[in-house]
Amino acid sequence: MTHLRRFPSALLLPLLLLFLCSAGTPEKSPSSFSRMERSHVRVRTPGLFAGSNRLVVDLSRLPAEEWCFPLPGAKVISPYACRKRRSHTGTDLKTAPNDTIRAAFSGVVRMSKPYGAYGNVVVLRHSNGLETVYSHNSRNLASVGQAVEAGTPIGLTGRTGRATTEHLHFEIRIDGEHFNPALLFDMTARTLRPGRLECTKKGRRVSVHRLD
Ligand SMILES: [Zn+2]
Repeated sequence: MTHLRRFPSALLLPLLLLFLCSAGTPEKSPSSFSRMERSHVRVRTPGLFAGSNRLVVDLSRLPAEEWCFPLPGAKVISPYACRKRRSHTGTDLKTAPNDTIRAAFSGVVRMSKPYGAYGNVVVLRHSNGLETVYSHNSRNLASVGQAVEAGTPIGLTGRTGRATTEHLHFEIRIDGEHFNPALLFDMTARTLRPGRLECTKKGRRVSVHRLD
């Protein structure tokens, strides 16, 4: 009890404000993700295709403040599944070492750790059903369970894992399956491509097409 009596009352107001501010955010406690979800890039999203094998992600009316190009100013140095690298699961974007990587959409950090060839990787789960992956970071700036807005800094560009230059390896996944980030982002203009994506699940695979 003695340590309670010594607790400085000047700290009570900031602590109360901190509690009130944090109460309104949709953060998830790290334990609300399973060990599998916290540990691996390719995991299914519970319940995503529970009612149907078809899901439409509607990005047609997304306001400008609700999306962000993940590495502003970057150029593509290696596209998704290109002729030279058929097995390439994302798009490689380059600016400078230790540049700020930003969340593409609002969401919750599902994974943030070193992970084999990915190096330091951050995975975000978004309410629209998509997940985005940010890899080879020199540092991760976000921790599991943290709620982020579009544009929130989540890491710094690096070459951790299997990388020959400092860059961002950016992936977009649905139910664990990667698809071409260029379906969502115009990689030259660095803007969101408004419209709808039709995602169809067949077995474990998910095929993704633009509807308009
Ligand atoms: Zn890559």
